[in-house]
Amino acid sequence: MRTEQFKRILQRLNTLRPEQLEELATAVSLRQAAAASYRALDDARGGACCRHCGSLAVVRYGRAHGLQRYRCKDCSRTCSAVTGTPLTGLRMKERFAKNTECMSKRMTVRETAAECDVSVSTAFRWRHRFLKAVVPQQPAGVEGLLEVDETYFLHSLKGQRKLPRAARSRGGKAKRRGISREQVPVVVAIARGQGFTADRVFEPGMKGKDLVEALRGVVKPDTVVCSDGNAAYFALQRELGVTLKMFSASKHGSAINPSFHVQTVNSYHSRMKAWLNGQFRGVATKYLPNYVAWQRLLAWFKQDVTPEQFIASSLGRQLINT
Ligand SMILES: [Zn+2]
Repeated sequence: MRTEQFKRILQRLNTLRPEQLEELATAVSLRQAAAASYRALDDARGGACCRHCGSLAVVRYGRAHGLQRYRCKDCSRTCSAVTGTPLTGLRMKERFAKNTECMSKRMTVRETAAECDVSVSTAFRWRHRFLKAVVPQQPAGVEGLLEVDETYFLHSLKGQRKLPRAARSRGGKAKRRGISREQVPVVVAIARGQGFTADRVFEPGMKGKDLVEALRGVVKPDTVVCSDGNAAYFALQRELGVTLKMFSASKHGSAINPSFHVQTVNSYHSRMKAWLNGQFRGVATKYLPNYVAWQRLLAWFKQDVTPEQFIASSLGRQLINT
C-alpha cells in the first residue's frame, strides 16, 4: 500500500464508532496472528532446498496457501516449508501460531479448539501432528550423570469406539495390583544439570534389550547411569559399557554416594502424571509417545517456548536436546 493511502486510513480512525474500532482491533490481531504463523512456517526450516530431491537449486515461485513456494531446477517440482513434514495437508495454517500458544500452556483439546475457533476434532488432529516430529528428538552421546527410571501408565483405549474388553469405570484402576500387562512403562533419562532428557514408551513387560536399544545412541561408555531396583538396567552396563549405580528405592540415594539418586526423574514423572492423568483425565496409550514428547519439549524450553520454536520443532528441526 502506498504511504498516502495508509496515512488516509490512519486519519479516518478517528471517525470510527467504538464498536467499529473493536471490530478493527480484532481483525488486526487475527491478521497479525496469521502473519506470525506464515512467517514461523517459512523461516522454520532454514535455507531453502528441494523437499523432494534435496537439491539446493531452488527458486522462489510465488506463494501457495500463504506460504512461500519454491520450484526445484533439478526435479521441477514445487514445495514449501510444510512439504514432507507432519504439518503438510493441514488447513487453516494462519491459526498454527495460536495452536502452539495453547499447546505451550498445556491446554486441553476443548480449550484449544475454543481458543483457535476450530472444531474439537481439528484441535485433536493438530495436537498430534504437531508432536509427531518431536518424538524422535532425543539427546545423543550424553556425558556425566544420567538418572534413568521408569513409571507406568494404565493401558488406555480412550477415544476408541469398539472396546475389546469391558470399559473401566471412570478411567478406573488396574485389575491386578503391581506391574502387569495393563501397565505401560515410560522410561525417562535425564542428564543431571544439563537439561538433556531422553524418553521412550515401551510395551508392557519391558526387557533389558529394549532399554539397551532405546539408550544406545543416548549414552557414551563413560556415562554414569543412576537407577534403582529394576534388573533390566543391568543390560545397560553389560551391553553399552556404562557405569551403573544401582541403589535401593526405599533409601533416597545411595549410602555410598548421596548424589546417586533418581529424584530429578521422579519429580519429572510426577509432573507428567499430574498433567496427563489429572488435567487430561488419562490419555490413549496409542498417543502416549506424543504426550511424552510434548512434556520433553516444554521442559527443554522451561515452559517458555515461542510459536516459532514450537512450529520449527513440529516441522522436524531439532532445537531440543542439542
Ligand atoms: Zn528437487
